[in-house]
This record gives sequence, structure tokens and C-alpha cells, in this order.
Amino acid sequence: AAKNAGGGRWTWFDPIMDSRADTDARLGADLRQAIARDELFLLYQPIVELPTGRLAGLEALVRWRHPEHGLVSPADFIPLAERNGQIIEVGRWILAQAMRQIAAWHHEYGPAAPEKVSVNVSARQLNEPGFPDEVAALLASTGLDPDRLVIEVTETAVLGTGAALESVRRLDALGLKIALDDFGTGQSSLSLLVDTPVSWLKVDKSFVDGVTVDSPEAVIVDGLIGITRGLRIQAIAEGVETAEQAARLHQAGYRFAQGFHFARPMPDSDVALLLDRLSHRESRQIQLI
Ligand code: C2E
Ligand code: MG
Ligand code: MG
Ligand code: MG
Repeated sequence: AAKNAGGGRWTWFDPIMDSRADTDARLGADLRQAIARDELFLLYQPIVELPTGRLAGLEALVRWRHPEHGLVSPADFIPLAERNGQIIEVGRWILAQAMRQIAAWHHEYGPAAPEKVSVNVSARQLNEPGFPDEVAALLASTGLDPDRLVIEVTETAVLGTGAALESVRRLDALGLKIALDDFGTGQSSLSLLVDTPVSWLKVDKSFVDGVTVDSPEAVIVDGLIGITRGLRIQAIAEGVETAEQAARLHQAGYRFAQGFHFARPMPDSDVALLLDRLSHRESRQIQLI
């Protein structure tokens, strides 16, 4: 039975009734059909420039509308798709879809279109030797300017193998930007910031959560600003839920932030409404209500 696991996440797994192997097998069989049946779709969450309130970019986040079980969170099916290899095909669909969408927005809205769209890419995709060539082919077929595209990777994915690191370098050579996602929660290695061509560092929500109190997390949030500035990396605070957090992050020197305080992930039709409003305004202040 479907149950709400909180935070808007829906899941129907019953850990007592189902072993993970059963669930994986059932869900994997369904996922195999999901692309053909048009059940996957993307939401886009605004990334906001703190000093101005400007819409700086959007992060594409996948969803699966399962015919029987309703909306399935990527936290439930992406890890499965990584285990069984389906992430290659699913990831290919996500990237193509996001790149076509951002190209269409640029065509339609010109300067009012979001500067950048971020797409999450998993370790398994990065380790496919053909991945950078696929991205290059999509850039060519969509006509998208490479610096409009940000590929989000986790520290763990990049540290995993030499192949992943090589992919990241080839993506950088294509002219797109690399973001290190969930920074601080993986196998953090500061040498990664030196050895890889990282343009964006996304400071994980678990640090942002503690930013308004006297906490070790707040010390880390503050410290990372000095590091990113010195290395000419842009820091983005993830998971900002309150005005108080936003103000504190701004004061700490964060230029970019993302979180429910500003906007939830939204369908492309809502992004279009937002861009309609922004294109009729001089400033690009984000006003979501
Ligand atoms: P992520 O890349 O770190 O994405 C941010 C997640 O935080 C999203 O969850 C977003 O909805 C959520 N979020 C944003 N602001 C807030 C906030 O203020 N409060 C709270 N509580 N949550 C916030 P979502 O969409 O459920 O995605 C979860 C994870 O699944 C993503 O984390 C990413 O690792 C993975 N994922 C999502 N879409 C894709 C995709 O297209 N490809 C791949 N490979 N992974 C994806
Ligand atoms: Mg991400
Ligand atoms: Mg993240
Ligand atoms: Mg995160």
C-alpha cells in the first residue's frame, strides 16, 4: 500500500513484507518499461542568487509516475537503477530531456531564460567510457551552448575510479560546468577541489540545517566560503528552508542558494509561467507566488 514517508516522499515498500531483492526485481521490471510508457518526467528547482533574488539556474530532478503506485521518489529508484545498470538508459533519457528543454527555453525566452540547467549524473554513467561523447552529441543536436549546462556529480562518484575522473575532465573540455553535489557528505577529499575542474560546490543540506545555531555545521558552512573563494569555485547552499537560513548564508558570503524557502521543484509548465513573468519585468527578481 502506498504510504507517505514524510517530506512529500511516497513509497509503497513495506520492509517487513518485502525483501530488498523482491522489491528490486519488481521495481526494476517496471522501470524497464517506464521510458517507453512515458512515465518519467523532470521537475526543475530554481537556484537563486542571494544578493539579488535573481533566478540563476534550475536543477532538473527526475520523477516516476508509476501506473499503480503513484509518484516514486528518485531516492527510491535511482539507487536501484544504479545497482542494476538501468541508470545508463534512464540517465541518457534525463540528460536528453533536460538539454532539449533548456534549449527550448532559450529559444523562447532569450535573455529571460535561466542561465544554467544542472543535471545529476550518477557514478555509473561517469564510468561509461562513451559518456562524454554522448554529451557532445547532445550538445550538437540540441544546439545548446555548453556553458548553459552543469553536470552534478558527487565526490564519491568522482573519487571512485580513474575513468570517472577522466570523464569529468573530458566534460570540462567540452565547455560545460561541473558541480560537486552533496558536498561534505561523501568521501570528502579537499584534493578533489584541486585535481578536478570543479566550478560549483553544492554544500549539502545537512550543513545548511545547522547554520543558524552555534554548531560544527555552521563553522563548516563559514569555512567553505573561504576555500571556494580562494579556489574561484562558486558555492551553492542546498536545502535552504527558512528566511533566517537564507539571511545567515548571505551574510556568510554565499552567493547562490536552493531550497524550499525559495521554490520547490516544479513542472516545466510552471517554469514557463515563471519565465513569462520574468520576461515582462525589468529585473529578474524571482517571485514565485
Ligand atoms: P540532490 O541532487 O542533492 O537534489 C536535491 C534534493 O533535495 C531534491 O530531492 C530536492 O527536491 C530536495 N530539496 C531541495 N530543496 C529542499 C529543501 O529545502 N528541503 C528539503 N527537505 N529537500 C529539498 P529529490 O528530487 O527527491 O532527489 C533526491 C536525490 O535523487 C537527488 O539529490 C539526486 O541525488 C537524486 N536524483 C534526483 N534526480 C536525479 C536525476 O535526474 N539523475 C540522477 N542520477 N539522480 C537524481
Ligand atoms: Mg543534485
Ligand atoms: Mg544535492
Ligand atoms: Mg543533497
